[in-house]
Amino acid sequence: MRHFNKVTFGMEFRAVRSIKTGEELFTHYTDPFIHTSSRQEDLKPYGFQCSCESCRTPSESDLVRIQLHVNVPMLVDYKRLVVFLMTPGLPESYVVDHSLQQLELIERAGLEGSHFYSLHLKFLVEAYCAVGNTRKALIYLQRAEALERAKSGGEEKSMKTLMKMVKEHSNWEWKAKVQGAMKGAGFYA
Ligand SMILES: [Zn+2]
Repeated sequence: MRHFNKVTFGMEFRAVRSIKTGEELFTHYTDPFIHTSSRQEDLKPYGFQCSCESCRTPSESDLVRIQLHVNVPMLVDYKRLVVFLMTPGLPESYVVDHSLQQLELIERAGLEGSHFYSLHLKFLVEAYCAVGNTRKALIYLQRAEALERAKSGGEEKSMKTLMKMVKEHSNWEWKAKVQGAMKGAGFYA
């Protein structure tokens, strides 16, 4: 990801995934999340035809972008999270399995800079907070935070701060609370 630092008046480049030694780094001249034909159209004024992996394999790369619901609000995925939060007894795997699968899809396409990647990391944090799983919530919060820093700069938060964010999360141990409230209201024997 690139980010213009107004203080240093310089362009900062940060990795959102691991980089192999000697691997060539690229930057984008257009929105990498739109379809190949639209990207090529945007690149016309620059006078070159992009030959990156995504542009070379449009049938595959466009399909990934469709699967990622590009340019469509992710209502279905939000709904999944809400259903999980509001349904006692529904395990976190209802959210976790789907989000992990989406993350993998995005990683395979090399689109870790995507808004959807951040969103699924946040869903994982929400789901693990809801069941009070500190360790897992921290793992995904750290990744979400690192991605945020890559996009917009800023300082790395301490482990203590991240821990506080988890424990003070509005979803913290939410499932136990729902379960308790339902039991109290006589929904469960
Ligand atoms: Zn390309």
